[in-house]
Parts: sequence; C-alpha cells; structure tokens
Amino acid sequence: YRLNMEDLERGEELGRGNYGTVTKVLHTPTGVTMALKEIRLELDNAKLNAIIMELDILHRTASSPHIVDFYGAFFVETCVYYCMEYMDGGSLDRLVNVSFGETVPALHPAPDEQQELVWEGIPEDVLARIAGSMVKGLKFLKDELGVIHRDVKPTNVLINNRGQIKLCDFGVSGQLEKSIAKTNIGCQTYMAPERITGEHQNTVGTYTVSSDVWSLGLSIIEIAIGQYPYPPEAYSNILAQLKTIIQDDAPTLPTDRYSPDACDWVASCLVKAPNGRATYAELLQHGFLQRDEAKAHSEGGDQVDMAGWVTRAFKFRDAKVVHMQAQAATAPVHPG
Ligand code: ATP
Ligand code: MG
Repeated sequence: YRLNMEDLERGEELGRGNYGTVTKVLHTPTGVTMALKEIRLELDNAKLNAIIMELDILHRTASSPHIVDFYGAFFVETCVYYCMEYMDGGSLDRLVNVSFGETVPALHPAPDEQQELVWEGIPEDVLARIAGSMVKGLKFLKDELGVIHRDVKPTNVLINNRGQIKLCDFGVSGQLEKSIAKTNIGCQTYMAPERITGEHQNTVGTYTVSSDVWSLGLSIIEIAIGQYPYPPEAYSNILAQLKTIIQDDAPTLPTDRYSPDACDWVASCLVKAPNGRATYAELLQHGFLQRDEAKAHSEGGDQVDMAGWVTRAFKFRDAKVVHMQAQAATAPVHPG
C-alpha cells in the first residue's frame, strides 16, 4: 500500500541539500522511524507520476546491506517525497570532517577518564570497511538494478550506531535527474575529469560507471583526512577548481598514516583517464579490501570494531558541538 503524508509524524530536520530537506518522521501505523526527503520540483502530474514509478524500483533494493532501505514515494502538489531508512549517524561528512589531532573538552568525563578528547582520524581497518561497503553498494546498484549512482560523495554515505555503512541518493529515476536542474554544482565537486570536459561520451551521456569510481576515490580521501581533498584556494573560484581537477595530479591518501596498499587502492580509483580506473571487481580483489574481507570472516579477535569506532566518533562530535556552542556564547559581542 502507498505511504502518504497523513501517516507521517514530523520530527527534527536532519539536513538540507541543494534540492530539498530531509526530516526524521515516524510512520504512525507501523511505528517505524524513517527519513523523509522532500524535493521541490515544478512539474506536471504526468512527470511526477513517472518519477514515482521509477522510484518504485527501489523496492527491490532491500536485499543489499549497503543501500538504504526504501519505503515508498509519493507527491503532494509539486513536491516529490520519498521515505527511506533512517540512519542515526547521519552522513559521513558530519562525522569525520574534523582535523587530525583536533582536541575538545570531554563531556562529563568520569574522574579517572581523559578530560580532553583527541581526534585520531580514521584507522585503516575502519577506512577499509567504509570503502568496501561503498564498493559493494555501487556494484549491487550496477549489477542488480542497472543503475549508475552519479552522486557519490560523503553526504550520500550514511552510517548507523551499529557501524553499518549505506549509500543513498543514487540516480534511479531518469526523470528526477532531468528535472533537478543541475545548475548549482556547489563549491566542492566530486565529478570526474571526463564529466567536466565532456569527453569519453560512451555509456550514458558523459557518465560512465567509472565516473563513480573517481568520486569514490575522492570521497575516501575526504573521509580519511577530514576535508575536501582539493586545496582550499580553489574554492574561491569554481572554474579554477575544475581546472585543477582536470590539469593537476589527483589527490592521494597521506602516506604517513595509511599503508602502501591503501594508498594504491585509492590511486587506482583516481586515474584521470576513465578506462584506466579499476573496476568494482578489481577494487574488491585488491589487497586493501581482501584484508578487510578476511577480518569480516575471522573467528578470532581480529574483527573490525565498527560499532566501537562509531561510538567514539559520536562522542567526539557531541563534545565538539557543545564546545562550539559554549565558545559562541562567550565570544565578545562587537558593536554594530
Ligand atoms: P546535495 O543536495 O548536494 O545532494 P546532500 O546530500 O547533503 O547534498 P540531501 O540529500 O538533501 O543533501 O541530504 C541532506 C542531509 O540529510 C545529508 O547531508 C544527511 O546528513 C541527512 N540525511 C540524508 N538522508 C538521511 C537518512 N536516511 N538518515 C539520516 N540522515 C540523512
Ligand atoms: Mg544526499
């Protein structure tokens, strides 16, 4: 049966993107907490219906543990709404956009506990688990649904308190893609060089599955270092930044914190020529992810403690929010 607005009780706003808002909602008939995404579009009913029908193929994605569950879509007036699995950790950018070594005062530390929390970045085994989950999610979309994601970036990688990593916002509806004016590309682009130049028009327009592999590599570096990988001077001018992506060497993982294997894996995503990039199968076969796979199946104590890592990351984030609020409250007020 169809979801509708009357059955949804609105909670807090979870975030805002370029095209709409995501709100936490309670589906009252079932008691399931969901994330409701609202996309404002000026479209006629025929187009809106086409979008709802295309989104409905998402009902088949429930079988991947690396794709957020889809509960249904509907429209009200000219807004498209869809309900997806609520991920209590939000998107990865919110969790990890912290500088390595940053400190904040701990919230309510016990007397024998550290008074200060230090951000120690993402350990390699956690990074490998994130990368592996993303590759499996992307491969599932392509193999099972014939879908290219088209918007791989840290805000579209979600995490929950069990440490599960899932992708959202993939390009499942051609009509929706067409209707969302891609005029605002934002000041940080994850687009592969060939999308910027318009070269290599093979599969779908300028977009090939390997364009997602580029965005994946860039996202993994951002997650590892806690910031967008291209230098900030490029932010001021979007054209300068696009030029940098096309002309300069691709960014790399910091070699002092990650193994040659990890660095090599990321480098194999960030090859400038699209057909030179690794495929999903190759990325999964690579030593960096094979070691993670072995840990996932090991009987002994060699598991990756994702839930433990997420708990520490939440703790740091909560302490940082309180710290920043306190700082803002005590900041001197300038007249005028
Ligand atoms: P863009 O508009 O460029 O795609 P975005 O991905 O940040 O940017 P939205 O997709 O609208 O924009 O999402 C806004 C924010 O809502 C995200 O950054 C994320 O933090 C949060 N969010 C999205 N989906 C969920 C979800 N299923 N569970 C919890 N939080 C979510
Ligand atoms: Mg998004």
